Amino acid sequence: MSLRQRLVMLQVVLAGALALVGLLVIESMQRALMSDADDILAVRAASVAAEVQAMQGRPSRSGIPAGLRLDPRFAEEVGGSGVYVQVSTPDGNVVRTSRNLSGGQLPVVTAEHLPAKSDDGVFSTVTVGADRIRLLSLRVGPSTDPMAVVQVGVSLHQIDTAIRGLVRLIVLGGGAGLLGAMLATWLLVGRFLAPLERIARTAEYIAESGDANTPVPSASGGEVAALSRSLNRMVDRLRGLIRSQQQLLADTSHELRNPLTVIRTNLSMLRRDLPETVRSEIVDESEAEAGRMSRLVSDLLLLAQLDTGQGIEQAPVRLDQVVPSVVGAVRNAYPDRIITVRLPVVPAILLGDSDRLRQVLSNLLENAIRYSPAETDVDVSLDVAGDHVELAVQDRGSGIAPDHLPHIFDRFYRVDKARSRSTGGAGLGLAIVREIVEAHGGTVSASSEPGRGTRFSVLLPVERSWSTGQLERAPVAASADPLPHRSAAT
Ligand code: ADP
Repeated sequence: MSLRQRLVMLQVVLAGALALVGLLVIESMQRALMSDADDILAVRAASVAAEVQAMQGRPSRSGIPAGLRLDPRFAEEVGGSGVYVQVSTPDGNVVRTSRNLSGGQLPVVTAEHLPAKSDDGVFSTVTVGADRIRLLSLRVGPSTDPMAVVQVGVSLHQIDTAIRGLVRLIVLGGGAGLLGAMLATWLLVGRFLAPLERIARTAEYIAESGDANTPVPSASGGEVAALSRSLNRMVDRLRGLIRSQQQLLADTSHELRNPLTVIRTNLSMLRRDLPETVRSEIVDESEAEAGRMSRLVSDLLLLAQLDTGQGIEQAPVRLDQVVPSVVGAVRNAYPDRIITVRLPVVPAILLGDSDRLRQVLSNLLENAIRYSPAETDVDVSLDVAGDHVELAVQDRGSGIAPDHLPHIFDRFYRVDKARSRSTGGAGLGLAIVREIVEAHGGTVSASSEPGRGTRFSVLLPVERSWSTGQLERAPVAASADPLPHRSAAT
């Protein structure tokens, strides 16, 4: 059942419940009005009965038993306010009727038809002509020797008319209101749902065709507009992801094709009759290319793991101990370079993956060495400031031009492709740095002055809940690989 039909159904159910409440109200109103009429009748019947009793014992005239002779004015008074009065002998002979009966009679009840215990009379509702009459029949005198039967009645015409009017109002007014509300709901919900249906159709089309270039139709104002905006943002992101996946695939194929071409050419050359020294050079070159491919695949695998949130351990790390360890390993790999280190006086403790953090510093240091002249220094500093530690690597190399700076953390981005290729980088080192740092809740940035050098700054949140004492007792992962990223393969 559609949302539209459900809403209309809900209205019908609500209207039914309201009608039921209305009927209950009418019913209790009718009962209250009837009870008022009964009270009036009881008072009137009692007065008439008292009058009849007062007449008892007076001499009889004009054939009417003495006890039943009622003062005509009294009967008029009693009947004046729309109450019918009728007095009859116990065996059912009507001896007096009020003038408002206009010569007619109320349905007669004899004394023997009134139950012996009914001293207060018996109420009944009878139909006379077109009217319903509420009737109270009261025996005067003891049941063994009744003197007369007094009957008082009142027309229920007004009560019935009022109740009928109310029922008509509820049925007609409520019905018309319900129909109007159902129609309005149907139209309004239809109007409200139309953009939703358009959005759903577009989303369905995008899901089926994979065409993320189709914009989700926008709607004006309200929740539907918000939904359309959110979906458009999602589709934009999807488009970006698809594009970057395609780019990644193209870049990866491109990067793998070059070493593969070199290796294939070298293998075919090895079939030829070549001097031993040339053969050895060809094998060396093929090994270097295979190493490049292997590094590339490892980097891509690591990036894929970082993308899916895997590959990062969560353990306390003393960065002030990790930094000198990595610098030591880099110094061993590049003994001709001068690397200065400045460490904080307090321990720099954070929660993360010690091996991956080693990789961050190692990648930054290797870049600093690669992209700066051999005779220049590289400075590493670690500072604890407030809630963060800052790890910085400064070189005095050629620097990075401002238009390249925003892209250097992108995958496969290389400023000077030819030069980077000769040094072995595929443009993934800084992308890995950024992914690792962000997985630790930190940020990385670069500032550079072309010709004067580049400074990379990594900000990471410190772990305050761990004391130095706890850390010393905890097993801190020590890397078996001194340079996790590049030294193993170079
Ligand atoms: P690569 O493997 O090419 O080094 P990276 O992602 O590590 O890839 O670096 C991306 C690009 O940023 C490099 O190709 C290089 O052009 C530039 N770059 C990185 N570090 C530095 C630096 N310290 N000085 C100058 N340029 C740098």
